[in-house]
Amino acid sequence: MYRRIISIILMCMLLAVSFMPLASAGSTLYSSDGRTIIVPTEEVPLYKEVGWFDSPEEAKIITMYSMDGRTIDIVQAQRDAYKKVGWYDTKEEVMITMYSMDGRALPVYKAQGELYREVGWYYNLSDVTITMYDTNGEEHTVFKDNAEKEEKENNLYYNKKDVMQLMFADDGRTIYVPFNKVEDYLKVGWYRGGGKVDPSRPMVAITFDDGPGKYTDKILSCLEKYDARATFFVQGKNVAGYKAVLQRADALGCEIGNHTWNHVNLSSCGSSTIASQISNTNNAVFNAIGKYPALCRPPYGAYNSTVKNSVSMPIIMWSVDTLDWKTRNAQKTLASVKKSTTDGAIILMHDIHSPTADAAEMVIPYLLKQGYQLVTVSELINARHGYAVNGKVYNKVN
Ligand code: ZN
Repeated sequence: MYRRIISIILMCMLLAVSFMPLASAGSTLYSSDGRTIIVPTEEVPLYKEVGWFDSPEEAKIITMYSMDGRTIDIVQAQRDAYKKVGWYDTKEEVMITMYSMDGRALPVYKAQGELYREVGWYYNLSDVTITMYDTNGEEHTVFKDNAEKEEKENNLYYNKKDVMQLMFADDGRTIYVPFNKVEDYLKVGWYRGGGKVDPSRPMVAITFDDGPGKYTDKILSCLEKYDARATFFVQGKNVAGYKAVLQRADALGCEIGNHTWNHVNLSSCGSSTIASQISNTNNAVFNAIGKYPALCRPPYGAYNSTVKNSVSMPIIMWSVDTLDWKTRNAQKTLASVKKSTTDGAIILMHDIHSPTADAAEMVIPYLLKQGYQLVTVSELINARHGYAVNGKVYNKVN
């Protein structure tokens, strides 16, 4: 009996020991105001429903931001749900900086960007600034509204080519050099590409007749590379098929002249035929580039007094006849240029022949290296005489 009582007591003790952890079993929960509580595990869901959380992180109050400028304070546990419906963690995510032409910067909410855009604010700094250049060739980023002031007061220029010269080395390297350093570079073997017309320096005008055609674009690429210009005396009938080529030529600063509609010998035409040959071609060119030709080159160089009177444009002949159309040989064309070109020359070539395009790739750097500026015929005449005279014949312009 006594033993039985003892065993019951022992069993009770064992039971008590095994239940002790259960009695203290509970979960710690956290509130957003910093309190903690220990609750029976089975009651955790009830407590969570009334604002208690499993971890201090989940209970932490955070601020979220909307695109239209609202903010909201929530507990971290709700963050993902809020993100799904368009709230953001940081102010940076909902705000952008907008810029004004006069250099102000303004932080605005993204949703308001378009409103600010309508009243003259811009999304990008590059929308309100331009690059200007000082006479040392240094770049300056300037707010557009200040550009005129910078031009006047600080001697800044809009165009790099206003303060720098494109130069080439024999091995094909190129560099933009401030004007005051050009002489130094010339001394060590560099030569000038094109650029602004300098009336004090030698210049020649290369002219290409009879196009535009399938080799014209290749010639334009060479002119573009050297920042050089030429004059294209076009046949009106070819223009519609090469509008983009003429537009490219115009954009590169080249000149488009009139070479009649279909290469007639004007000296055997009456005045009304001459007038229509000229005006139809002028209109075709205007239709392509929005400018009328200022100069006429009669096919075969053939003109008489009727032509001079009927064309009512300056008549442009040449002083260097490369005979490229005859030799069809790039080396011979180059040799002809080397032999005959002097300051003020007008050089005759034809862009409808493939060897002429090859020749241009040698002639252009050759002339630049000789120190000639490669200009349009109008630039040449304007630099030497101020303007070109209608009906007057030009061969060489000194
Ligand atoms: Zn011709």
